[in-house]
Amino acid sequence: MEDWSARASELYDGGFRPMFIDGDWCAARSGAVIDARNPADGSLLATVPKGDSADIDRAVAAARKAFEGPWSKFTPFERQALLLRIAEGFEAEWESLCLSDTLDMGMPIQRTLANSRRVLGMLRFYAGQAVMIHGNTIPNSFPGEIYSSTVREPVGVVGAIIPWNAPIAGSVWKIAPALATGCTVVLKPSEEASLTVLMIARIMQNAGLPDGVLNIVTGHGSDAGAALAAHPDVDKIVFTGSTATGQAIARAATGNLKKVSLELGGKSPVIVCKDADIDKAVPVAAMAVFANSGQICIAGSRLFVAREIHDEFVRRVAEFASNLKIGHGIATDTDIGPIITARQAERIAGFLAAGADEGAEVLAGGNRADRPDLAGGHFIQPTVFGGVTDQMSIAREEIFGPVISALPFDTIDEVVARANATPYGLAAGVFSTNLGTAHKLAHRIKAGSVWVNMYHAIDPAVPFGGVKMSGYGREGGTEHMEEYLDTKAIWINT
Ligand code: NAD
Repeated sequence: MEDWSARASELYDGGFRPMFIDGDWCAARSGAVIDARNPADGSLLATVPKGDSADIDRAVAAARKAFEGPWSKFTPFERQALLLRIAEGFEAEWESLCLSDTLDMGMPIQRTLANSRRVLGMLRFYAGQAVMIHGNTIPNSFPGEIYSSTVREPVGVVGAIIPWNAPIAGSVWKIAPALATGCTVVLKPSEEASLTVLMIARIMQNAGLPDGVLNIVTGHGSDAGAALAAHPDVDKIVFTGSTATGQAIARAATGNLKKVSLELGGKSPVIVCKDADIDKAVPVAAMAVFANSGQICIAGSRLFVAREIHDEFVRRVAEFASNLKIGHGIATDTDIGPIITARQAERIAGFLAAGADEGAEVLAGGNRADRPDLAGGHFIQPTVFGGVTDQMSIAREEIFGPVISALPFDTIDEVVARANATPYGLAAGVFSTNLGTAHKLAHRIKAGSVWVNMYHAIDPAVPFGGVKMSGYGREGGTEHMEEYLDTKAIWINT
């Protein structure tokens, strides 16, 4: 087993890590800082600037200057070459990036390392897309020789705001399409996990990104984030985070009618039909929630199981949960790492208590994980609740923790109605060996992604996003490029 702890102390020593504006590595104008702590043990990794509206103003001005200046002169082929150099930089620094994420937000190192294919793929996918942007010539109804055509133009300065639960993929999925289309970016990472995003900016700078094209302002949502969302010189906001914050951002964006895309929360259903391959479905259905300790937007936290197989299936999911290893993310055999903050762990513990109070049966876990070696961190046992009804809070609200609510069902029509009876519509899973049933469910469930006999697949080439209160806009695929482009019509009277 590789020992990551020595490398961990080399990476972060409690010192100050500046933010990145206009090519400069700088402190906040106010001089204030935020502590970046390891959620596994509470230790101080570093401090980062507590940026506010003054820093956002500076970053937006730099992004505007770069957008209208040097960056606008880059050809699509030059942007492509730059993205490919950035991908090489990521590959060279991959282990340090993953270790940084594990230390800063707790994701087990095995999982961060395994994400490489997706993140490197994103950079290379958008490098390919950079040279595929084109308009059309369109026949029109005017008499004479009047020609009409379209060109695609970058929307301009993009404000990107991301959560803490997947900083590498979360930031690359905002920055790479912006660079591919010729936009510039001001990115505000979460106050809970900024360190890896700063490392990413360093890699991009070293790859030759001109000053001002990417700016990172670290800080809190209530000041730096709100200032970015409301900024009159930002043309587009791309946001990933909770539904409540997404609503606040959409409201703030009305001032200059900037465009907005929102990737928000979920309460995703996983439906296990009576003809499912149980051996294959049990670990996938369990990890649909327990991956990253349940701190993923697509967590399949409502487990609907056909009554005929319900008891056996749920017993096996509970057994699987009880065998997961809880520990520090840098231990290579850890399955369940820490929860990001004491506040978030408190919130999850509240749902555990509510589930028990409302009459659900604890089949696995059900408590905080208190062991001497976990002191200082915030750990929750992977939990499976049986006997859940649709009305219980654990079946309705996004918990963002390692908690499964198991619910029996009798018919396909019934489970479709129950699965869709939620304000959210981000993702869903279906397990069935019957192609007809699988198709029927995949088409009738209201969600941005439906996985059949699998879960979690996210790919740069395939669009991802939500419907209903899980947001609007898509990341991935050619749809994603549309989010960063405007269409201009050009008319020529010869
Ligand atoms: P959050 O909404 O609290 O914060 C997300 C980001 O928004 C942070 O950077 C925060 O500083 C900033 N922010 C907070 N208030 C703001 C404001 N008023 N104006 C501007 N910015 C503000 O979310 P979180 O707790 O960091 O992350 C968890 C949430 O994110 C969950 O709901 C989860 O489902 C969601 N999420 C969704 C996706 C997706 O792709 N759909 C992916 C990951 C996480």
